[in-house]
Amino acid sequence: MFVTHLESALDGARLPADTLHTTHRDKPLWVRYDLKALGNSISKKELKEREPTLWRYREFLPVPKRARPVSLGEIITPLIQAEPLGHHFGVKKLWLKDESRLPTGSFKSRGMALAITMARHFGVKKIALPTAGNAGAAAAAYAAIAGMEAYVFMPEDTPKVNQIETILYGARAFLVNGLITDCGRIVREGTNRLGWHDLSTLREPYRIEGKKTMGLELAEQFNWKLPDVIIYPTGGGTGLIGMWKAFKELRELDWLENTTMPRLVAVQSDGCCPIVKAFEAGRRFAEPFPNAHTVASGIRVPSALGDFMILDAIRESGGTAVAVEEGRIIEWLKLASQMAGLSICPESAACIGALEKLVSEKWLKPDESVIVFNTASALKYIEKFDIELPQIDIKKEISWETIASYL
Ligand SMILES: *Cc1c(COP(=O)(O)O)cnc(C)c1O
Repeated sequence: MFVTHLESALDGARLPADTLHTTHRDKPLWVRYDLKALGNSISKKELKEREPTLWRYREFLPVPKRARPVSLGEIITPLIQAEPLGHHFGVKKLWLKDESRLPTGSFKSRGMALAITMARHFGVKKIALPTAGNAGAAAAAYAAIAGMEAYVFMPEDTPKVNQIETILYGARAFLVNGLITDCGRIVREGTNRLGWHDLSTLREPYRIEGKKTMGLELAEQFNWKLPDVIIYPTGGGTGLIGMWKAFKELRELDWLENTTMPRLVAVQSDGCCPIVKAFEAGRRFAEPFPNAHTVASGIRVPSALGDFMILDAIRESGGTAVAVEEGRIIEWLKLASQMAGLSICPESAACIGALEKLVSEKWLKPDESVIVFNTASALKYIEKFDIELPQIDIKKEISWETIASYL
């Protein structure tokens, strides 16, 4: 369609886009478009008429005309105004963008829909990836309908639901007594030995393009005037990087009504915050984070291949990186779920913690518009909750006093 070439994110080297690529000198690749031709081929008005899925943005996506999308029904996710939650933290305009409604219950499906579509187009039969949980499940589901074999490697304490769903979709899944970085090493060896195509975060160029649709959608939902601040949980960084790429492409097309771009906030747990450390130190590359631990498994990424891309995006946007207290994530999760009526995942609960912090530090002003992405459903993390319900014994007389005492 409008793809011109691939470009190394670090040194700008150009590569042809008509064959399968992974990285260039071990650094990620951008997909580049002829934005002028793209802008001439589609208008905002035409876009409005299209089906409400991420494929409505096809001109902005790398899928060639003759390639059929591998799709499970990637809906436009709802933007939900969370007034009580916003008021609680002192912001007037807070929205949650609920990504838990996408196929396999997390935003990972956006990236996998594109990565697997392109992999199939290039004739790939076997894919493999390391995962903190949700990426593996999404890859397994898309591989299933694309007729590919999927090999998934996850840390042994990956949420049980992620383990089960990955198997249900027919992937070969393995538990590894290490972190996602250790799983990644196994995958890279397997690409040589067993001919797998590596779908690791940023080790192929198309997952970013799928994540880009979060930014395109947000812009369209806000009538092309983006909000002031976007708070996003950051692991490998594709979400943040993809969104920023979307905003930059829209700006170059002159589609945005904004005078200033949204400030991006990358959120991590203080149990694993390599990006925050690098941001604070003014560095472009992050050091691997030792003894990484957090209940928010999606952001337990001690070392990200795209660290410089994340840090560049945050800085270019005038944003910031925030580490929140690991010990309070479940507290924010419960509070946000109760106040918003949505099942908020631990990664996004960390973002609620960041909201609290940024308002108290006055980095965020009460009348600024704020988006928090709910990247997955809390229901994927059942073993993280220590919940016991009071029991009623129907063989005895029902104690209404006891029931009333719980209200
Ligand atoms: C993967 C994941 C993240 C981190 O996303 P990146 O874009 O890789 O930084 C956040 N939340 C959840 C639920 C995830 O599965």
